[in-house]
Parts: sequence; C-alpha cells; structure tokens
Amino acid sequence: MIAMPAVVGIGGNVGDVAATIRAALGALDATDGIRVVAVSSLYRTAPVGGVEQADFLNAAALLGCGLDPVALLERLLAVEQLHGRTRDVQWGPRTLDLDILWYADMAIAAPGLTIPHPRLHERRFALQPLVEVAPTAIDAHGTPYAEILSGLPLDGVTVVTGPSLVYDPS
Ligand code: AMP
Repeated sequence: MIAMPAVVGIGGNVGDVAATIRAALGALDATDGIRVVAVSSLYRTAPVGGVEQADFLNAAALLGCGLDPVALLERLLAVEQLHGRTRDVQWGPRTLDLDILWYADMAIAAPGLTIPHPRLHERRFALQPLVEVAPTAIDAHGTPYAEILSGLPLDGVTVVTGPSLVYDPS
C-alpha cells in the first residue's frame, strides 16, 4: 500500500504529558508503514465534556501512512496501552489519547471507527493542531477545516511550545 496522508490527534492530562506525547510519536514513527511527517505546536486546552479535571495538552501529527485505517487504529490503541491508558470515565482523565482525526479525505462510518473523527468539527483543541499540520484538509462536504476552525470560539486553547519542542521527525 502506498503511503497516504493521515492526521492523528494526541492528548493527555495525567503524568508528564509532554514526555508521553514525544514517546508516543517516537513509537508511531518507529512503526513499519508509518512515518511522522510533521508535528503541530503543543497546546494547553480546557477539558470538555463536563468532568472536573486538569487541563489537557494536545497536539497533532501528519503521518505518511501505509497502514489502512483499521490497522492504524489498532496501532494507536496499542501505543495508548503502552502508556498506561485506562478507560474508567468517559471524557475523564487520561495519560494518552490517540485519535484518527482525518485520513486522506476518506469517509468511514463503521462500528468502532468513524473517519473523520465525529467531533472534530466542534473541537478547537483537535481542529487547530490539525489545520497546523494539514492546512488544506477538507471535510466530507468539501469544506476546508481551516474555514470550520475560523468559526469556532477562541477560548480554551493556548499554544505552549512550537512544533520543534514537541517531536523532531527529521
Ligand atoms: P477514546 O479513546 O475515548 O477516544 O475512544 C477510543 C475508541 O473510539 C476506539 O476504541 C475506537 O473504536 C473508537 N473510535 C471511533 N472512531 C475513532 C477514530 N477516528 N479514532 C480513534 N478512535 C475511534
């Protein structure tokens, strides 16, 4: 399979999250069939979903992906497990969350896998890093994500560091 562009969203709010994000990107980059092509800035983001918890750190990575979407999801779940991810409270605290936000303009609605990510268009914490690494990505209706982002409220998302301090893919 030839490499397709895909964007993975990365976040967490338990432990040394910046170190976890860096390690997770290293694990993805070391995977046969996956290359990290570009990484976004690191963002501090307010939690959504109503659970009282610490702020999150979020970023996104543009991958060159030779795995199909299901195989990519399996790899993401394995990397989450490596970093002690548990699923106790929906939208609750987590060491590491990896989501497929976008995969080469594909639209998939299967049990256990929806691409683009179903809540991408309403979440600045996911959309802003995505637009940083894939500025021309469009949704299933042909609307650029950059345009959707410009319509979202500005609050709750601030830049912590630039991309080079998150992970250097070179
Ligand atoms: P969470 O870790 O809470 O984001 O939920 C992960 C679960 O959501 C996975 O086990 C997947 O089955 C499901 N899921 C559905 N669509 C996606 C997607 N685009 N990226 C990651 N997980 C997804």
